[in-house]
Amino acid sequence: MPSIFTKIINGEIPCYKIAEDENFFAFLDINPNAKGHTLCIPKKEVDKIMDLDEDTYMGLMAFSRKVGQAIEEAIDCQRVGITVIGLEVPHVHVHLIPLNGMKDATFQNKVSLSQEEFITIAERIKSRIE
Ligand code: AMP
Repeated sequence: MPSIFTKIINGEIPCYKIAEDENFFAFLDINPNAKGHTLCIPKKEVDKIMDLDEDTYMGLMAFSRKVGQAIEEAIDCQRVGITVIGLEVPHVHVHLIPLNGMKDATFQNKVSLSQEEFITIAERIKSRIE
């Protein structure tokens, strides 16, 4: 069965999309640690990051860097942190998290956003990506 993230890529489940190219896709995390918390995924469905082939791994990092630079421009934060966990969704995803303190990196300090806020944040980040 396809992962929930494959369904997002295929447009079967809605998301607040940030960026897409031939091999990768980025969208806002629906339960964010902080405003602008974004997930970057390979379109190829692989569970664990260490199982990615090298080209996909390196491509995912380059794609995440580009998206992370846009987040740093668009969102008021000290820096963007990167985390890979994957205990909930078995489809590789890089968490890009705008950090204003260690609390934002803990996954215990969640922020609640309205649909309008998600849309505005996604637009702000998207407008910074070439
Ligand atoms: P983990 O697998 O532990 O790295 O966490 C999975 C992440 O995916 C969590 O931060 C969830 O909030 C996020 N997530 C799960 N379903 C969706 C969805 N439909 N849209 C956006 N983010 C999601």
